[in-house]
Formats: sequence, C-alpha cells, structure tokens
Amino acid sequence: MASQMTVLDTLQRPMRDLRISVTDRCNFRCGYCMPREAFGPDHAFLPSAEILDFDEIERVVRAAVSLGVRKVRLTGGEPLVRRGLDGLVDRLAAMDGIEDLTLTTNGSLLAARAVALAEAGLHRVTVSLDALDDETFGRMNDVGFPVARVLEGIAAAEAAGLGPIKLNAVIRRGLNEHAILDLAEQFRGTGVTVRFIEFMDVGHTNGWRLDDVVPAAEVVETISARWPLAAVEPAYRGEVARQYRYLDGAGEIGVISSVSQPFCGDCTRARLSADGQLFTCLFATAGHDVRALLRSGADDRALTDALRAIWAGRDDRYSELRTLETVDLPKVEMSYIGG
Ligand code: SAM
Repeated sequence: MASQMTVLDTLQRPMRDLRISVTDRCNFRCGYCMPREAFGPDHAFLPSAEILDFDEIERVVRAAVSLGVRKVRLTGGEPLVRRGLDGLVDRLAAMDGIEDLTLTTNGSLLAARAVALAEAGLHRVTVSLDALDDETFGRMNDVGFPVARVLEGIAAAEAAGLGPIKLNAVIRRGLNEHAILDLAEQFRGTGVTVRFIEFMDVGHTNGWRLDDVVPAAEVVETISARWPLAAVEPAYRGEVARQYRYLDGAGEIGVISSVSQPFCGDCTRARLSADGQLFTCLFATAGHDVRALLRSGADDRALTDALRAIWAGRDDRYSELRTLETVDLPKVEMSYIGG
C-alpha cells in the first residue's frame, strides 16, 4: 500500500513503527516489568474476549501501513505464549509495505518455535537476556528460568534465519552490573548485537528509583575500558539504540538511554495494547480505544481516519520533559572512543 497519506504529528514526526502487544500474559516475573507482587496468582489477566483477535490486529496494521508504518514488532507480555501466533505472522508477512517484521521475546519458547516463525515469514527476533549466570538471571526473571534455554532459543533462531539477532539486557544497579562485561564478551564476534537498556519507570509498580539506573554512558565506558569502542552514526531517524563498534572489528553494541538521554524528538513509534488501546508514547497512561471502534462496525476508511487523527494530534514528549525536570545523569558522547 502506498504511503502518499503519510501522517505527521504536531512535532512533525511520522508514524513509522507499530509495536503490537499480542498478549498481556508472560511466563516470567521480571521485577522491573511484571513483578510478582503486582502479577501474582490473583492477578486478573485480560479475558480472551477483550483481546484483539488476528482479524482485528490485521485491520489495524493495514490502516497503519497506509499511513506510513514500515516496521512492525510483535511483543507482549510474552508474545510466544499467544496461541497460533504463527498465523498472525503469516498474515502480516503477506502484507505489502512492511519492510521489517520482528518479534521481541524472552526466548524461553523460542527453540521450539523458531522454524515455524521463520516459515510463517518473520524477518528477525530480538531476545531479552539480562545475565549469563543462572543465579542472577533466575533472580531477575523470578521464575528460576535457566540461561541455557534462552541461549538454545537464540541458536535456533539463528539457524532458522531469524538474524541478525539483537539481544536486550536491562541493567539494574546492584543486581546485574556484572552482566555488562559478561554479555559483551559472550556475544562479541558472533553477529549478535547486545543492546543495554536503562531501567525505565514504566508499567506497574516496578519500584523505579533513579539510583537503580545504570546510565548508558557508564555501560559504554565499562565495555570500552576492556574492548575499545567508537560511536557509529545513527543509521536512520528514530533509531532507538545508539550504536558503538568494537575497534578490533568484533561487531557492535547498542545502548538505549531512555532515562539519561531521551529521544522523543525522533520517536516514530505507536503501540497497540493487547486489548486494542493505541498509545502514542511508552509512558502514556491512557490510550485511544481502537477496539471500540473496530467492534462498533467501523469500516477501513473510518479506521484509517481515526488513526490519522490520533497521530496528527500527538504531542507526547514525556521522557524529555521528565528528564529536564528530574534527571541529571551522564550523557553518552557520539564521539566517544574509549581506551
Ligand atoms: N516478553 C518479551 C521480552 O521479554 O522480550 C517482550 C515484552 S518485554 C516488555 C520487551 C522489552 O522491554 C524487554 O527487552 C524488557 O527487558 C524491556 N523492559 C521491560 N520493562 C522495562 C523497564 N522497566 N525498563 C527497561 N526495559 C524494560
């Protein structure tokens, strides 16, 4: 579908990426995301009737693509716990206009699913892994899940052609700082790009404190002191991670500095929650009820008009404003070359 109808928001940002949460459920209980205290046995997850079905998701994606979206990422919750996900991948892979169709997963079910996902037409996966020792990783995922099975998932994804693989690691002060060098060492020279993410104040009651954030600049310095790094110019507007390359040619790492150096000015991402709320900012507390529209019988034209109006009215720059108010952390320098 052509993008002559590309829509810009009030800050002239196009809508390029759509992140779709296909389920609110997860088999991990990472303290920074779905802590056990808030997501225990009594937690009321969404009943299936409230979750968008694949027809509904496909319609929203088609409308978003007609407005300029080119990258679609399936996420969650844990997307691989959604039954029949390959069927959704298959439909999206067949849609004209999507240049990048990816999935973010904790990797726990990936070894068994990688081939089917690749055959359905998924382009790539991003795998989250916060440590390489079972003690730390088990404490972070809070279900005692072993590292080896995530590594098996990564290997299976690579073998199935779902690379180049990115690996997300959230670093929390006092919990897994040692994983910075462990992960860098393990994946240097393998073609897997590790992206270190600053612990963010998102979601429910994750007990966020600024003191727990390990600034991206510190991650870069730590790695560069061991294996010197040089900054790489961003490949495109809106790139989330700042990339650094190893001077010895062993590949790249990325840092996602949402707290110390937010990138709202370049944010081109919309997010669709499992129950069909469209959010124009990761930190937004209220979304736009696209499910109500879909279920009220709106045709594709009305759906596209509604998405266009939502995006055209977008003025979010939450992280930047918040950072101006509260955060004084070291910034990463694009010219940084460690020694
Ligand atoms: N379950 C999948 C996974 O683990 O990748 C997909 C969903 S998860 C919410 C997507 C990514 O968000 C993961 O890489 C996770 O580490 C990251 N994330 C979740 N909460 C975060 C937080 N408070 N700060 C920074 N990153 C966070």
